[in-house]
Parts: sequence; structure tokens; C-alpha cells
Amino acid sequence: GLGDNLPAWAEADVDVMDARMAVENLPERPADSHKGTYGTCLIAAGSVNYCGAALLAARAAYRMGTGLVRVGVPGSIYDTLAGQLPEATWLILPHTSGVINSEAAKVVWKNLERVNALLIGPGWGLENETKEFLEDLLNLQKGKGNASPLGFVPEEHELKNASRKLPALVIDADGLKLLAQIENWQDKIQTAVLTPHPGEMAVMSGLSIAKIQADREAIAREYAQRWGHVLVLKGAMTIVANPAGEVAIIPMATSALATAGTGDVLAGMITGLIAQGLEPYTAAKTAAWLHARAGIKAARQLGSEASVMAGDVIAQLPQVLNEI
Ligand code: AMP
Ligand code: MG
Repeated sequence: GLGDNLPAWAEADVDVMDARMAVENLPERPADSHKGTYGTCLIAAGSVNYCGAALLAARAAYRMGTGLVRVGVPGSIYDTLAGQLPEATWLILPHTSGVINSEAAKVVWKNLERVNALLIGPGWGLENETKEFLEDLLNLQKGKGNASPLGFVPEEHELKNASRKLPALVIDADGLKLLAQIENWQDKIQTAVLTPHPGEMAVMSGLSIAKIQADREAIAREYAQRWGHVLVLKGAMTIVANPAGEVAIIPMATSALATAGTGDVLAGMITGLIAQGLEPYTAAKTAAWLHARAGIKAARQLGSEASVMAGDVIAQLPQVLNEI
């Protein structure tokens, strides 16, 4: 089976994800259901230089079965994106020179009603304005720290009817690098799913990429426990670990996925499954397995691993869901 090719470092107490485990985790789809049955996710992504991340994540969330996907993007790129995904609803975020700024924290907070899962980070860039946005987003949680050190305190009436606790969070890409700059970030969020590739993991942990890659399973296990969050250490043989010390491996490696945007696709898939009610750890390992499978299938269908683009991975998701 798939597990026969496990690398030497894979230990006995690692769950090897397979098709059966993935299918068992997927939500049921009763015929008398409606879009509310399958949750809402909000994706706060993108910046002037990284327009596509928001679209890729949103399409992936929809293809995983999410009932409603709302996409929050800096107003400067809204015109470019909105026509490309008529199924989405939109949230225009305040920006400075095309990157999300701290004023956007208020806008997100006012629009969290009925949001079951929130994805942040893809395509953000690393500008200071966006770091301030992230700080304010976290600081506005009731009982989780105080008002922003930058001085942004929302008027009570501005947040009337707004949720005061962030929904389940998925944090990816530049969101992770900015998060790592915030003191005690681990304690400022409820249990989240963090999806670093080895380079982002190096920034977050202070370890070298070489050290991380030399012992991926042990590093993922250690940091999921230390940080108290679900960790998806991406790359060939993706590792998913939770704070309780459970670890799963996705036993697939393919160069088909070594291309820009595939990480945005995975982040959207995880968020979409959480919105449908899966536990964060279950959602992360199930999405990671389906994602790798879709990459392999895309290469097979196109006839070349080299030719696969992130959109091709999304296009394979229906077939992957159908065959398992
Ligand atoms: P990112 O680097 O954020 O764009 O994410 C890349 C995505 O593709 C992650 O889900 C990785 O796990 C996956 N990926 C990249 N390279 C490989 C590989 N050689 N084998 C399997 N999955 C890969
Ligand atoms: Mg990425």
C-alpha cells in the first residue's frame, strides 16, 4: 500500500492517512440540505502584488463543499477579482497602497456573524500596515489581551452585534511570518491551524530549514504541542500534528505540487472543511490528503508533472471526492 514507501524517520506512532480515513471524515450531504448546512467561511487574503491567492483559496473552499465563501480583499484589487468568481460574496477591506491595513480589523470584526471558519494570510505581503491589521484583529478578542498597542480601540457601537471571539482560524503564508513577529502570539488565538512550508516554519521556530527537514515528524509534533495549535508542516510527505501529540503523515510526494499557489489551495480546502463542522486537526489531515491526491491526478491527466498549475489541482477535487 501507500504506507510501504514511508521515509525512515516515520515512527510507529504516526497515523498514515489513507483514502478510507479521508472518506470517513468527510461531511455527509443529505438531499434535503441547504447552503446553511455546509457553513460559511471568510477568506481575508491578497494584496496588490498577490491577487490570485484569494481566488485560489476561495475556489478550493467551494470545491470542498462549503455553503458560502466570502472573500475579503483590499479594495484596490476587488475590481480585478470579483468578476472571476460569481459564486463568492465579497468584503472590501481598507488598504494602504494596495495592502490590507489596520482599519480592516474593524471591518472583519463587524462581518463575522455566521462565519464558521476564517482564513488569513495568503497573498498578504509583509508590509507593516498588514502586521498592524493582524495585531488589531487578535487584540479585539474579548478577554484576549487589551486594545491595540497602536491605539485602535473600537467604539462599542461599532462592534454592536459583532462577534467578540474569532471563529476557528486557519493561518497561512505571510500571515504566519507576521504572526511570528507578535509577542506571545500563541496565547492570543484560540486553537488554530497553522500551515507553514519549511521556510515559514524556519521563520516561526528559529530553526534552520535543514534541521526541520532532517526530522519533520518530531519537529511538527514538538511545535504543535509547544504552541498549542494544529500544525501542518507542508512539503513532500506533509506532516499534520495537534497539541495533544497526535501526528499524521500524508504519504505522498510529487513535484506536481511544487508550483505557486498550491499552498493557497490547501489553505482554502482546510478552511472549507472546518466551516462544514470538522475539527481543525481532522480537517487539516483530510484536506492535505485530498490535496496531494489531486496533485498526482492532475499530473496524470495532463501527462506531465511539470505542467501542473494550482488551478489544475482545484479542478481535480471533484474527481478525487468522487473516487474515494
Ligand atoms: P506553498 O509552498 O505554500 O505554496 O505550498 C505548497 C503545497 O504543495 C503544500 O501543500 C505542499 O505540501 C505541497 N507540495 C509542495 N511540494 C510537494 C512535493 N514534492 N510533494 C508533495 N507535496 C508537495
Ligand atoms: Mg504558501
